[in-house]
Amino acid sequence: MEYEAVIGLEVHVQLKTHSKMFCGCATAFGAEPNTLVCPVCLGYPGVLPVMNAEAVRKTILSGLMLGCEIARFSKWDRKNYFYPDMPKNYQISQYDLPLCKGGRVGKFGITRIHLEEDVAKSFHFAETSGVDFNRAGTPLMEIVSEPDMRSPEDAFAYLTALKEVLIGGGVSDCDMEKGQLRCDANVSVRPVGEKKFGEKVEIKNMNSISGVRRALAYEIQRQIAAVKRGETIVQETRRWDDDTSVTSVMRTKEHAHDYRYFPEPDLMPVEVSAAWLAEIRRAVPELPEAKRRRFVAHYGLPEYDAEVLVADASVAAYYEQAAAGSKNPKAISNWVMTELLAKFAENTIAPAQLAELVAAIDAGQISGKQGKEVFAEMFATGKNAAVIIQEKGLAQLSDAGALEGLVDQALAANPKSVADFKAGNAAAINFLKGQVIKLSKGKANPQLAGEILARKLQG
Ligand code: ADP
Ligand code: MG
Ligand code: ZN
Repeated sequence: MEYEAVIGLEVHVQLKTHSKMFCGCATAFGAEPNTLVCPVCLGYPGVLPVMNAEAVRKTILSGLMLGCEIARFSKWDRKNYFYPDMPKNYQISQYDLPLCKGGRVGKFGITRIHLEEDVAKSFHFAETSGVDFNRAGTPLMEIVSEPDMRSPEDAFAYLTALKEVLIGGGVSDCDMEKGQLRCDANVSVRPVGEKKFGEKVEIKNMNSISGVRRALAYEIQRQIAAVKRGETIVQETRRWDDDTSVTSVMRTKEHAHDYRYFPEPDLMPVEVSAAWLAEIRRAVPELPEAKRRRFVAHYGLPEYDAEVLVADASVAAYYEQAAAGSKNPKAISNWVMTELLAKFAENTIAPAQLAELVAAIDAGQISGKQGKEVFAEMFATGKNAAVIIQEKGLAQLSDAGALEGLVDQALAANPKSVADFKAGNAAAINFLKGQVIKLSKGKANPQLAGEILARKLQG
């Protein structure tokens, strides 16, 4: 029997805000442990949380970018559990009334997006453990997908596209290595054709998007093999180990938490006014998909170019600036993709400088090959193309008068080729063109030289 996988992802994203979710402490990665703390985020009894409006704004912005329905009324709930990373014994989250519902990432549905506070981070040493509260209280957005994915590649595509949107909107930097984006993957298997879902397993502890893909590939095979042996899959949470490439049981359903959610009494519900919603809506940036379509339509680029350029918002912005000042947007795209992309972080070439280089090539001032030389020099020195062309004496001979003299010389020196051409050997012109270029010491504009030659030979 053939089996297929069903996958749903729960993604936690740390929002890029200056301060924490319910207190004024700074959010910063890599600070000395327990230096960015106060009684609120340390979970002292009797303190009062104050909502960070910017975090709510960024969650709504995310919802709008992902096509969600924004709740005009939502509220906070306490999710109760005891764990060293949460000493007040509950996390403030949103349970039945999340900020956003519905929406999509590509062809995959989103169930909901809610906002909560991140927990502290535990560290385990040889004989002791430590807890760093700098992370506690960081605004954390949870995006829950519908069980719409069917393969590890689907999950990879979902996460890549989601990340692209969130980074593009300035919501989060989504660096998985820094824990700014964390993904739990839910996966079950079922016989192909079966409508009902199988029992799902939740996988944790992946720290890259490709890690999620690897973990899912392993887990799907493990489940299919187990089912084929006649075993039953039970609901459990498993941990992925990227070094050994296997998942292992973390906790089973019997040990599942009962969170005993109830409304948070210390916080007002969140009411989003029409005016605020309209204001956030105006801040929604152009989405990657729309930008790709525009690049194809407006600059006449192939889909592939649009895809590559739009993948990085700063590359796309650079491209647009360069293309704006150019008559040849496709050539600009070629230069960006083949010469600039790999070292974009170190790039010092201004968009207008690249446009100038492309124009010099298009005008026949220099050849495409010389263009590479100019580009390299430009990258190293920051000088303009015109300056480099002059300094290196690269300018092609495009002066018709001067070229005509060289053409006459070449014709006079090679009567046999002239006769060959006149006898019908069209290829003889190439030899003559070569002679003109040789006489010019390689500087003759080949196209113009060819034109003058043809005119003289035929006339
Ligand atoms: P839980 O209450 O256990 O967290 P949810 O219903 O909230 O479960 O779903 C959590 C995630 O698991 C969602 O992304 C959802 O799409 C996915 N999911 C739910 N059922 C299944 C299933 N049978 N197989 C795979 N994924 C599933
Ligand atoms: Mg869940
Ligand atoms: Zn604090």
